[in-house]
Order: sequence, then structure tokens, then C-alpha cells
Amino acid sequence: MEFAESVSNRPVEEGAEGIPWVLGALGDLLVRLHAASSRGGEAISGAPRRSDGGSGLGEIDRRVMACLSWAQIQAGMTDTCSEVHHLMEWARVPLGEWLPKSVVPEDWRLCCLLDASGDCYTFECMDLAVEHRPELDSQQRAMFRQFREDLRESFGSEQADAYSFAREFIVRHPVTHPDSIVTACRRARWTPALERAISSFYRPLPEHWADRDGKVQLCAHCGQAGEWGGGDWRCRTPACSEARGWKAGAAMPSAGLLRTHPALVPFWHNPGIDELLVYDTLISRGIEARLYPDLDTVDVDVPALNLGIDLKYVRNARRLAQTLEKAGLHRYPTAYVVVPDAVVFADRKYLATLKVHLSARASRFKCVSTTELLRELTRAD
Ligand SMILES: [Zn+2]
Repeated sequence: MEFAESVSNRPVEEGAEGIPWVLGALGDLLVRLHAASSRGGEAISGAPRRSDGGSGLGEIDRRVMACLSWAQIQAGMTDTCSEVHHLMEWARVPLGEWLPKSVVPEDWRLCCLLDASGDCYTFECMDLAVEHRPELDSQQRAMFRQFREDLRESFGSEQADAYSFAREFIVRHPVTHPDSIVTACRRARWTPALERAISSFYRPLPEHWADRDGKVQLCAHCGQAGEWGGGDWRCRTPACSEARGWKAGAAMPSAGLLRTHPALVPFWHNPGIDELLVYDTLISRGIEARLYPDLDTVDVDVPALNLGIDLKYVRNARRLAQTLEKAGLHRYPTAYVVVPDAVVFADRKYLATLKVHLSARASRFKCVSTTELLRELTRAD
């Protein structure tokens, strides 16, 4: 009886922020499945969860899937949620295309929960998961907090410079070799403590990323590994593959190669594509700029203009507006919130929605696409 009630009543019951309970629970389910598979290297399984904490499904997971199936059937849609692998395939597609309106509020309809390769959950997936299970927020921040503490202990007054160096290295090298980390740190005269801090963000490259000859094809644009699928290559960093066509870079022997922790893709690598574009463009035009200054107060700043830039790869404009309340941008007289062209192109109302939902304090922020920002900052050339 209890189960039947939960299935029949809960899908449209709203939790915090007007998000249906089951949508937050779905985000949580996908984050947990992904964490279990990337931590233990296990295949995600539809079998009951094992007593040793393996990646099978628990009772609550089955309830979530049943609720979603029920909502789809009630809306006259095809049931795509009763089998976990099927569900995970659909999680790569915008929510509005496979879940009914009773489950997906308007501003979540263009959001996907897993990236196109299924390799990582998206920013939006984690956003929903945190709404459902708030303690996840501190867990996801733990890795970044530990990084800052390591830098503070090892580098004291130089910790901000160490942070900028390390973050830039990681964003520019989604795939690397341990020797490259050592070489880069020594060339810049950093001590081995920074090599260790940077290395903590890397994991062994998955074997299935290599071809039959044991080589990994890298993206010429961003250095990420490429993925073959659907008759074509694609960069595994979604923001890169959306912004520009595939261009093959080096094919590297996979032995010993590292890739960054998958959780960095939504938080560092996706926005990092345009952060580097903006920074590199400014530097090439002779405009002094700093990347990730003052322990990541903003993404890029231009000291001569007292100008701060935050680059955001977030599909839900209303949710982005809420996060900006605590942004380091508030310290800058001129502040830009910059959204990649592909995100703005996919939702023509995006920038207008973002501006409408900014708080009174943040309402002075300029909200523009990457192309608009570059046009404004390089206009004097
Ligand atoms: Zn790329």
C-alpha cells in the first residue's frame, strides 16, 4: 500500500524550489550510480544492490524509476524508465523530450542529466541531486576544499598564484601524463607539493578510451580525448564539441595516461573552454588579464579596467541567477556574466531570463554571450 501511494502521489509532489520530488530523486540516482561506477570501475547494474555497496539498484531507486514510468504512462508517453540502462540512455537527451510536464518544470526542459557520451553527469544533474539531498553539496565541495587547504599549507602567501597555475594546467590538460605534470611545475619553479596537488585531480585513463592499437585520439582544440560514435568523432568535453566541429589532434599511446576526475567536466572543463578562449584572446591583443585570480574570485579579470568575468555553462538561466548572489563578481566595479554561444543559441530567451531573475544586488551585472563579450573587450583594437 505504501509503495502504491508513493507511486501514485509523489511524482508531481513538489520539493524545494518547486522541483517535483521525483526529478530531484532522479538527479540523485544518476549521481550515485555514476559515482559508484567511476569509483570502483564497475558496470552499472540493474540487479539488486549488493551487500558490499556495489552499484546495483536499491529499493528507493526502483521507486524513483517506477514513479517516472508511471508519470510517462499517465501522460500517454512511452515508458523509458523501467530499465536502468534505458533510463541512462535517455538521460543524455533534454528532459522535456522524454518526461512529461508534470515531472519537468518549464525551465528544466532543455537540460540533460548526463553528457552526450554518458561519461559524466551534468551541472544540472548535480543541481537537482543537491536539491533532493542537500548533504551532497558538502560532499561535492570536499575535493575543492581539500585542494585549497593543501595549497594554503604548502604555499602560504603564494597560495593564490599556486591555485591559478594549477587550475589553468588542469583545464588546459584534460588528458596528460604524470611526467608532464612534473615538467610543468618544475619549469615554473613550483615545489613537488604542487605536483601532488595537481595529480590529486587525475585518474587513470579508462581502457575503453583507447583504440585497438592502444592509442587515444585527442581533440586538437582542447586536448580532451575524442570518442567515436554514430559514424563520427566527438570531443568528450560537451562544451567543446558543441562550440566547434571535431578536429583531430595527436594520437597518444594510452599507457600511463591520466584523465581528470570526471566530476571536473561540468564544473571546470565545460566553462573552461570559453574561459581560455576569453583569456587567450585578451592576452593576444596585448590586454593584461589574469586567469582564476585571488583563489578563483572570478574566472578572468582585467586589472586595468577593474573588470571581472565569470563564465557559466549552466542550461537553466533562473538557477544560474540564484548562484550569482554569492559570486566574487560583486567585488568588481564592472562585472560580466558570460554564457557560451551554444547555450544562448539553444534557448533564445536565455539572457533575458537570466537578467529578469538576478537579485537587486546583482542586477548591475552585464549578461552577454562569449561572442558579445569578445566584441566589446576588443572593440578598441
Ligand atoms: Zn575538445
